[in-house]
Amino acid sequence: MTIVAGVDIGSTTAKCVLLDGDKILGTSLNPVGVDIVKDAERALELALAEAGVSRSEVAFTTGTGYGRYKVYFGQLTVTEISCHARGAHFLFPGTRLVVDIGGQDTKAIKVSPKGEVVDFAMNDKCAAGTGRFLDVCANALGFDVGEIGPLSLQARRPVKISSTCTVFAESEVTSFVSRGKEAKDILAGLHESIVSRSFSLMQRVGVEAEVTFTGGVSRNEGMVLAMRRRLGLPVNVSPLSQYLGAVGAALIGRDRLGGSAA
Ligand code: ADP
Repeated sequence: MTIVAGVDIGSTTAKCVLLDGDKILGTSLNPVGVDIVKDAERALELALAEAGVSRSEVAFTTGTGYGRYKVYFGQLTVTEISCHARGAHFLFPGTRLVVDIGGQDTKAIKVSPKGEVVDFAMNDKCAAGTGRFLDVCANALGFDVGEIGPLSLQARRPVKISSTCTVFAESEVTSFVSRGKEAKDILAGLHESIVSRSFSLMQRVGVEAEVTFTGGVSRNEGMVLAMRRRLGLPVNVSPLSQYLGAVGAALIGRDRLGGSAA
């Protein structure tokens, strides 16, 4: 038994995955606050508790994500781009394009048949078209972000969102409400507008099946539907999609450990 950990510290959430071979022993997900070092520790502790494993049993830890340099207990840091590619390939080996939409950034990653990064494109420093954009708009409509996906699936006449900036989109959403538009139609319009933005990134690296959607926004069924419609292709998603950066980190760490042991 060789247990490895992947710890993904994003802009919004900290994720940890514990692997033994290809078996996932435990996962954790907690919000990121001001003390990232503590959040990383907590992510590991929560996953260990879920797995019923002690810290000394973890042979290797890899940090990834925006806060990866704060995973002080780790032995390796790897970019989230490589980790999402590897994690998506692990779950869906036919993946050629990964779309990762997290709290503050969106990435399109072209993946080789071995799960390596061939090319990638990402949004600029603006939060438009990311999870944060959805969080702000959900809040403006009085919903929790977990509620907006299912609600948007009932849309009949999605509105057209023209604002590309998070701040303006929030006021555009409010103005749709005051004009009597229904929340489900506004939300479906928002999802379409975000998918449109990520579609331009996908085109920059080349749209090729299979497409795998990762990151927290892939938990939103409305986004998955909008993505499938826009691409005209099936889109792989899994309940583990938000953890795929951490899964990839654990796998890359496992390779490194195997390499150094050889
Ligand atoms: P990061 O890695 O950048 O910290 P994540 O990949 O964890 O971000 O994604 C966070 C985003 O995922 C949130 O901003 C939110 O929009 C979305 N999200 C989180 N949980 C849910 C949920 N239950 N349903 C729909 N969307 C969700």
